[in-house]
Amino acid sequence: MTLYLEDEIVPALTFLGTSSAVPDEGHENSHMIVTGDEQTILIDSVGNSILRLKEVGIDHNDLTDLILTHFHPDHVSGVPSLLMNMWLLGRRHELNIYGLRYTLERLEKLMEFYDWATWPNFFPVHFRNLPEEEKALLLESKEFRIHSSPVHHLIPTIGLRIEFLKTGKSLAYSCDTEPCAEVERLAAGVDVLIHEATGATLGHTSAAQAGKIAAQAQAKSLYLIHYPAKGDERQVLVDEARSTFNNPVALAQDFMRLEF
Ligand SMILES: [Zn+2]
Repeated sequence: MTLYLEDEIVPALTFLGTSSAVPDEGHENSHMIVTGDEQTILIDSVGNSILRLKEVGIDHNDLTDLILTHFHPDHVSGVPSLLMNMWLLGRRHELNIYGLRYTLERLEKLMEFYDWATWPNFFPVHFRNLPEEEKALLLESKEFRIHSSPVHHLIPTIGLRIEFLKTGKSLAYSCDTEPCAEVERLAAGVDVLIHEATGATLGHTSAAQAGKIAAQAQAKSLYLIHYPAKGDERQVLVDEARSTFNNPVALAQDFMRLEF
């Protein structure tokens, strides 16, 4: 008997948004989705995630996990409407939501303001509290192994490392952070480092600093994300990062898909 593998989905990450806190017409706030055969993992939720998922051809029913990096509006403002939309569209199966206690407590309070306990037949939501420690195991399945580490932002925030177990590939995502050794360690030897490039301000990183982190981590490539959406400085960002990192650098764009 021949096994046909054509139905197997190539594990991938798709950028659903790439801008820093203020989006524009072509750049939604930074968030992304990781897809495999059995799991579909949304990382942060902003705007109308249900529409964003439709635009990239992902069925919201396939969503198994939601990881929240930190409780700033440009990362979590879409969660209440995502939950409500999925419920109204008939979702009955569970959803796991991962985050630091700081994040999940606030999300729960927010949902209490919406009286979500009174929404009839609301699907089960499991809050998975992550310890505020380096390389905490967030999730492990046949397809993915995901670790989180606290990074250096204005409020408790996590970066992520995702290992694609079927292909042996890996990525790391800094999330919002100042340049820090935690990201460098999280990203050690990854195929792709997705690093923020908001600029050298409090709690953030410049493109040149992101390049330096990528070099120290010995990442094979660098994608800049969470950059100011407006202005003509964007090619400049890539050039800046190239001044400190010799491997390929690209600017992440909304709907760009990376296969692993
Ligand atoms: Zn942000």
